[in-house]
Amino acid sequence: MHSSDSYHSLSSLPIGEGRLEVICGPMFSGKTEELLRRVRRSQIARLPTVLVKPAIDTRYAVGDVVSHDKNAMPSVVVEKASDIMNVLEVEGRPALVVAIDEAQFFDDDLPRVCSELANKGMRVIVAGLDLDFNGVPFGSMPQLLALAEEVTKLHAVCVETGRAAHFSHKISGSDDTVELGEKDKYIPLARHAFVAARKK
Ligand code: ADP
Ligand code: MG
Repeated sequence: MHSSDSYHSLSSLPIGEGRLEVICGPMFSGKTEELLRRVRRSQIARLPTVLVKPAIDTRYAVGDVVSHDKNAMPSVVVEKASDIMNVLEVEGRPALVVAIDEAQFFDDDLPRVCSELANKGMRVIVAGLDLDFNGVPFGSMPQLLALAEEVTKLHAVCVETGRAAHFSHKISGSDDTVELGEKDKYIPLARHAFVAARKK
């Protein structure tokens, strides 16, 4: 049993929220939109907020995170997960919120980095593809999903059926798991449409 006294010890803990949130889903499901929405609200709350993306994501303006509906925000581009530790300052103030887009492209160190930041009291918001185009869990997303206090699974609109799409199907290009592309290379599909498309 907790005595009421035991809660007083919490006052020595960091003041921030200290949590990990994951936003996942297939391509075009609105992950970046949702991430930018949360970043904007945290800026409205005047919380020093850093938006980060991996160097590999060069589909649009370098340095900006851009959603498919052309929403954009400046971001810090980092080479590897541990580099995130070195960019946690906003106008001379330590960041309280860190938002990370395209998390699936980061190295295996990302779950450790995110946990460490959340443990320190930061609100960590991660967006990424939960599945690759083979329908297999992508990079360190499974670990992040397990570690997160809160998970948001988004869906795109299936271009075959109009239903909720959970899969990103590759329609052209190579067999590499990491190949950047847009609607010319990937389409969102619901499960049975994805299964049927892969049989072809
Ligand atoms: P993600 O980061 O998950 O790839 P974005 O946030 O960049 O997604 O883009 C979401 C936007 O993509 C939607 O608001 C919509 O304007 C557009 N879009 C284009 N095709 C589709 C589709 N098939 N299903 C859902 N949204 C789509
Ligand atoms: Mg995105």
